Amino acid sequence: MIDGRALGNDLRRGVRGRVFVAGEDGFEQARTPWNVAVRQEVSAVVEIADAVDAAAVVKYAASAGMAVSTRATGHSPSAAADGTILVTTRALDGVEVDPQARVARVQSGVQWGSVCGATAEHGLCGAVGSSAVVGLTGYTLGGGVGWFARSQGFAANAVRALDVVTADGAHTRVTADSDPDLFWALRGGGGDFALVTGLEFDLFETPQLFGGRILWPAERTAAVIAAFRDATAEAAEGLSIWLSLVQFPPFPQVPEFLRGKAMVAIDLLASGHVTDPLRYFDEIPGIVLDTRRPLDPTQIGDICMEPTNPTPAAVRGELLTDFSSETTDSLLAATAAGSVAPLAMIQIRHLGGALTRSSTEAGCSTTLTEPYLISLLGPIPTPEAGAAVLARQNSITEALRPHLSGRKPFTYLDSGETPAQAFAPESLSRLRSIKDHYDPRDIFRSNYPLNQN
Ligand SMILES: Cc1cc2nc3c(=O)[nH]c(=O)nc-3n(C[C@H](O)[C@H](O)[C@H](O)COP(=O)(O)OP(=O)(O)OC[C@H]3O[C@@H](n4cnc5c(N)ncnc54)[C@H](O)[C@@H]3O)c2cc1C
Repeated sequence: MIDGRALGNDLRRGVRGRVFVAGEDGFEQARTPWNVAVRQEVSAVVEIADAVDAAAVVKYAASAGMAVSTRATGHSPSAAADGTILVTTRALDGVEVDPQARVARVQSGVQWGSVCGATAEHGLCGAVGSSAVVGLTGYTLGGGVGWFARSQGFAANAVRALDVVTADGAHTRVTADSDPDLFWALRGGGGDFALVTGLEFDLFETPQLFGGRILWPAERTAAVIAAFRDATAEAAEGLSIWLSLVQFPPFPQVPEFLRGKAMVAIDLLASGHVTDPLRYFDEIPGIVLDTRRPLDPTQIGDICMEPTNPTPAAVRGELLTDFSSETTDSLLAATAAGSVAPLAMIQIRHLGGALTRSSTEAGCSTTLTEPYLISLLGPIPTPEAGAAVLARQNSITEALRPHLSGRKPFTYLDSGETPAQAFAPESLSRLRSIKDHYDPRDIFRSNYPLNQN
């Protein structure tokens, strides 16, 4: 066991950024992730100032026989970071947009909100997800299934190049030509291969964005679910519709009149003239809130009213093989027609479109052929609350079991799950051999390590 003070001194000699070890001021705050429910027993935290710092930490870890975990925001922390030197990239927040080439170059600590801010003025957007405060890097390294997934596919597949520090401490640019295997693995396989310091990725035009949330009291759940099935059956790829059964927590961004209420929501984003299927929702009376409006990319993160401050939560993700009346009957029975407590939300996202199309140029996330993604999110302010959330997640997924494929996107893995649930066996075995080749001493420790069974 390395002495904390000695470790801190060694690291400080090698880097310009701030270093925190146990017992020192700032350590608790520095090691605490955005999802504050997860406690990570890391050995030290290094807030790197640049890529030179990143290389210094990797070289130090290699010489000391230690592992390195990396965090942008801490939206997806896990106990796999225990014992590691945790690198935080939050100081690496540069964003550059080349509107002619339709490309963004970002440093690896950026959040989606700042990227959308920089692209919006050019009428461009990247493959953003539901939250503006999620980090672009963890999201993209894990594949990234966002608002534009039906038309653009996985966020990872838009990546053209990555600047990384490899396990030997070298700083290098990875492209399809320079290192095809590593390039394939980094686009979907998570943070197990290298420490990423920057990414370059394609943007796309976003003409006439229109979106928002429609909310009804939970008594309308059956009608909204039926309309969701009809609308998604007709939706063009430019229209993404998500259904949520919500038990509003007392978050500051939730209007006071909704806090503590059980509701059913439709969240949507349309790009172009594709809103016709929304007529199904207009037929349902009792709307209590309707935020639909023309949007620009900076407003996409507001649609789902997700928490932006650090939040203790557990998310269970599953892929649905169908949304038949049998599936919706099971969902309605398991939620007593809309009551999800102690969960805060059950969300069903319509997938399909570009996610189903395979390409030889794609990264390791390949395709998602399941038509819907369900996620069950529960706040866990105390360990006791965690047990109740887990029990409810389990009972609802058991009720839906005949309609679940058993797979899940890498970015939806949660505590106790492994990459074997995200990848087909042949992809997992290729990822493991790329890991062995590029990081034979297992220096990089992802939140969901590939060698975990
Ligand atoms: C509120 C909320 C909304 C979400 N919405 C979506 C969504 O719409 N679509 C979707 O697909 N997912 C979504 N997610 C899941 C999200 O994509 C993952 O939690 C993702 O890992 C977050 O990335 P991060 O960088 O913010 O998190 P972090 O916890 O900082 O990083 C997660 C992991 O990424 C790797 N990593 C991060 N930075 C680096 C780096 N520089 N070098 C190497 N590895 C690195 C590490 O392995 C790290 O453990 C959401 C999560 C939350 C909490």
